Amino acid sequence: MKHTPTTVDSNVIQAVNEALQRFASNHHGKNASYIPYLADVPSHLFGISIMFCDGSHAEAGDTGYAFAIESISKVFTLAHVLDEVGPQALRSKIGCDPTGEPFNSVVALELHKGRPLNPFVNAGAMATVSLIRADTAQARWDHIQATYNAFAGRDLTVNEEVYTSEANSNQHNRGIAWLLQSYGYMHAHPMEVCDVYTRQCSVAITCHDLVTMGVALANGGVNPLTGKRVVAAKNVAPILSEMTLNGLYDTTGDWYYKVGLPGKSGVGGGILAVVPGVCAIAAFAPPLDVAGNSVRGQLAAEYLSRTLNLSLLH
Ligand code: GLU
Repeated sequence: MKHTPTTVDSNVIQAVNEALQRFASNHHGKNASYIPYLADVPSHLFGISIMFCDGSHAEAGDTGYAFAIESISKVFTLAHVLDEVGPQALRSKIGCDPTGEPFNSVVALELHKGRPLNPFVNAGAMATVSLIRADTAQARWDHIQATYNAFAGRDLTVNEEVYTSEANSNQHNRGIAWLLQSYGYMHAHPMEVCDVYTRQCSVAITCHDLVTMGVALANGGVNPLTGKRVVAAKNVAPILSEMTLNGLYDTTGDWYYKVGLPGKSGVGGGILAVVPGVCAIAAFAPPLDVAGNSVRGQLAAEYLSRTLNLSLLH
């Protein structure tokens, strides 16, 4: 059902504005530089959005700036694949546990005989892409694009500059893709999969798109703005489990301790937190900590979780 957004409480608007003011002058962290395009995104950009399950929302800062979705894309490809294969197959072919190693670790793969352990490390994300039922790269991409568009409630586009930058520098991911194949965890041609994965990371979204995509997960799998189901209700909990355990690279535990919410970040500077049944929070600020998470994004999410009493642990 499509909801008619109500007006957001003034305390929510105030908290979002306060979060922006408090942390805008925090200059810790550095833009990702291993993908050349990302190094040049203006570091001062900062946007915060919150959207409730009725579609009402509050935003502050640069929430209309289009940035690369990067790793946050893994959440939405997972949603599609869960709808195709179901949680049991996903868990046996990939898993839902932390690797204890960085997101692009080859060591983690070797240690576990090629099993990626979760869909949010690069190996697991590519294995997830390979599970999409498709005979061609185009068909594989079409599934991904349709899913992202349904979550966002509008047609998203690939930032071709990001894609080219990333495709020219993704030798490490190509290595991971071949390694997955050698261990039997790659279910389509490794180079086709790696390329489609690179393309999904290059999708341009705004903070407003991200919060809309996230709130569909808070809302049991229905985008409240379009009223359309975007993932089966039974697959929402598996997605939130993966976000809870693996959403913020190797500092997911720290994040959960402070924010108490399933989250997902990307090296483009985006970050998403989901409060089941209530709302989603999205933030965008390019400088990252050493684990690869937006510094200001984490602070904003922590502030909103605390101020609006959103933690699942309270
Ligand atoms: N495209 C990036 C990569 O594969 C995504 C990483 C991320 O955001 O964590 O390295």
